[in-house]
Amino acid sequence: MAKEDFYKILGVKKDAKPEEIKKAYRRLARKYHPDVNPGDKAAEDRFKQMSEAFDVLSDPKKRKVYDQFGQYSDNLAQAAEAGATGSTYARGAPFDFSGFDFGAAPSQGTGSGSFRDIFADLFGGGRAEREPPRPQPQRGADIEMPLSLTFEEAITGLTTSLTVNRSEQCSRCHGAGDTGGSVVTCATCKGTGQVQRTGGRLRFSQECPDCGGSGKRRPPCSLCKGKGVLPKNENVKVRIPAGVDTGSRVRIPGKGEGGRLGAPPGDLFIITNVGRHQYFTRKGDNIYVTVPITVPEAALGAKIEVPTVNGKAQLRIPPGTQSGQKFRLRGRGAPSLRDANVHGDQFVEVQVTLPKVISEETKDLLRKYAQMNDENPRVTMGLE
Ligand SMILES: [Zn+2]
Ligand SMILES: [Zn+2]
Repeated sequence: MAKEDFYKILGVKKDAKPEEIKKAYRRLARKYHPDVNPGDKAAEDRFKQMSEAFDVLSDPKKRKVYDQFGQYSDNLAQAAEAGATGSTYARGAPFDFSGFDFGAAPSQGTGSGSFRDIFADLFGGGRAEREPPRPQPQRGADIEMPLSLTFEEAITGLTTSLTVNRSEQCSRCHGAGDTGGSVVTCATCKGTGQVQRTGGRLRFSQECPDCGGSGKRRPPCSLCKGKGVLPKNENVKVRIPAGVDTGSRVRIPGKGEGGRLGAPPGDLFIITNVGRHQYFTRKGDNIYVTVPITVPEAALGAKIEVPTVNGKAQLRIPPGTQSGQKFRLRGRGAPSLRDANVHGDQFVEVQVTLPKVISEETKDLLRKYAQMNDENPRVTMGLE
């Protein structure tokens, strides 16, 4: 596909002066810029064309190559520099569009005629005089901290002190990051307005937080070095409510990172990790425990004492209780996180344990018991 002549695209003569080219481009860019024609594909194409033309014709070296070959590519430029003749290069070689980014491409910057400067002129009223955008007030980030608790502490709740590695709004600049003064190039992004961030294995560019993407800023505050916040190791009193479990998030308001420009700080979130208990286990607000009972207790029934997470409780074992039977003690479980007055239940599984038969007297008793109760449980269950 034949390319339209760059001079025609910009509507200038072959011998136009750089200033005329720049002027023509500005006039056209104002008309066809995508920001002015959102969603207009034709305008966008037109804009790309004229930007391509301007990129070449505004650069004396590129323009020379273009005038010589009727087209421009980096290869041609290299060849021209190496003294190669135009005949080795067929006309119509594709324009190298790779890396051609209209937004903010520092690589396209060719001194005073770069796209960035032109656009700043067009839409910002002049880059040099433009006020860098002030950083916006920004709430501080939340902080998460793990905390290990014993099983009992999770049931009863706990008040403790934690050293939190947080930050607080800078007292000198009040979070602005600067204290006024004349505008300089942002040191964080070296004037590009973008910073590289790593998210997992990905690297991506992000608007520079220190200059708001403008690449310019006032000299940073000497106390906080422009961060707007100062690191602070603070002893924070933390109240863990009764009933937390592993993975509960306890919010401590205002103890996250400091806010910018008077914005409030973030919150601190304690993520609890609850240890195991010697004999209790817990599912939600319910507590489970296995309790041994004797053969006479199981056979004759009994009132026994069982441990619960909030003291001992009476449990009635009915006569004829089998091993593995479960009993519920209502309201004797863990307190609910939502309402400390509401408790889960405790489930008690009884396990019938055999007596240690040592004395002859006991053995005689058991023989007598066997004679008196000659039932065979295997026959009862149909196994024999
Ligand atoms: Zn910056
Ligand atoms: Zn400061």
